[in-house]
Amino acid sequence: MTNNLTKRVLNIAPSATLAIDSKAKQLKKDGKDMVIFGAGEPDFNTPDNIKRAAIKAVENNITRYTPVAGIPELKKAVSDKFRKFNKINYDTSEILISCGGKHSLYNICMAVLEKGDEAILPVPYWVSYDEMIKLCDAKTVFCNTDEKFKLTAKDVEEKITKHTKLLFLNSPSNPSGAVVEPSEIRKIAKLAVDHNFYVISDEVYEYLIYGKEHLSIASINDEIKNLTITANSVSKTYAMTGWRIGYLGANRELVNAMTNLQGHSTSNASNIAQMAAIEALNGPQDSVAKMVKAFDERRKFMWKRLNEMGLECVEPEGAFYAFPSIKSTKLDSTKFCSKLLDEALVAVVPGNAFGSDDFVRLSYATSMQEIEKGMDRIEKWLKTIN
Ligand code: PLP
Repeated sequence: MTNNLTKRVLNIAPSATLAIDSKAKQLKKDGKDMVIFGAGEPDFNTPDNIKRAAIKAVENNITRYTPVAGIPELKKAVSDKFRKFNKINYDTSEILISCGGKHSLYNICMAVLEKGDEAILPVPYWVSYDEMIKLCDAKTVFCNTDEKFKLTAKDVEEKITKHTKLLFLNSPSNPSGAVVEPSEIRKIAKLAVDHNFYVISDEVYEYLIYGKEHLSIASINDEIKNLTITANSVSKTYAMTGWRIGYLGANRELVNAMTNLQGHSTSNASNIAQMAAIEALNGPQDSVAKMVKAFDERRKFMWKRLNEMGLECVEPEGAFYAFPSIKSTKLDSTKFCSKLLDEALVAVVPGNAFGSDDFVRLSYATSMQEIEKGMDRIEKWLKTIN
């Protein structure tokens, strides 16, 4: 019956990260002693103060629909956070709350991309961007990054045509952990203004950054702010992946269009989760600092071990991923991952899912003990294949 399905859905590639994760979890359930580096989520629990806010919301019957664009108090908290942390002034009418950062990004693509448009996508890229572009019938124009996976204005400039509608900017990056240099972000902003294209600045990993400066492109000046959609989420910062709260800031015209769209698809994000997100943004932030410290220790350890065993790896500067080269093994990334899974019971994600077949992605959002065990296994396994 596939003939009855639209080209739109038939063209979507399943998410490789979710596929690996679920295969590894199934093997674990079957009793195998798996080490899983596939996760795209913190291994920490949602902080107690946030959980309590949700429980209180339920007990107080705050369980009905909310305005489509979100609870006013949450929009206010987001607007305050944008002003204080990102140095961007978004009025509450320029904020839209959605069902996860992914949903925010989907709304943006649906609002600005259509057939004939080109979207510039730096490689390596997060798996869903390319699929979202396809779902909008637009064309993906892949763009190089430098040897440290950092996007430069020069690489963007080479890809600009009269059809360019949008640039995806994701710093810190999933999968590479690269942080784009502020000087390049300034130059990229100028390109966007001069050539009049939108920038989606996906800043979901902005807090998970190790000694580098995070610059929000929309903070540079009003012209680039007007062309930028700053997308974010409480998922990674507050270990709230399952709560599904994403948010964005953009000009009023865009926010109204996306609100309209959301009003006919999901309506509002969960009322209870929005109440929890208010506490996440307004409440104590010490749990974030603790999490970042733990990620930083794991990051350094994993990066060192990977290089020592011959899997050359650029130092990740943000997020919670390492993205080593597997060129030395002469295997493509799919083969590498399936052999590693079957023979060493270690799950990592193939780089071809991110547009880079010579690499694999390992998440260090797992305990140090598991990281040590996994590194030992990979090192031993590499000796069997070389
Ligand atoms: N953007 C990037 C780069 C991501 O890695 C993810 C999740 O993995 C998201 C957005 C979306 O996260 P969520 O939908 O949980 O907010």
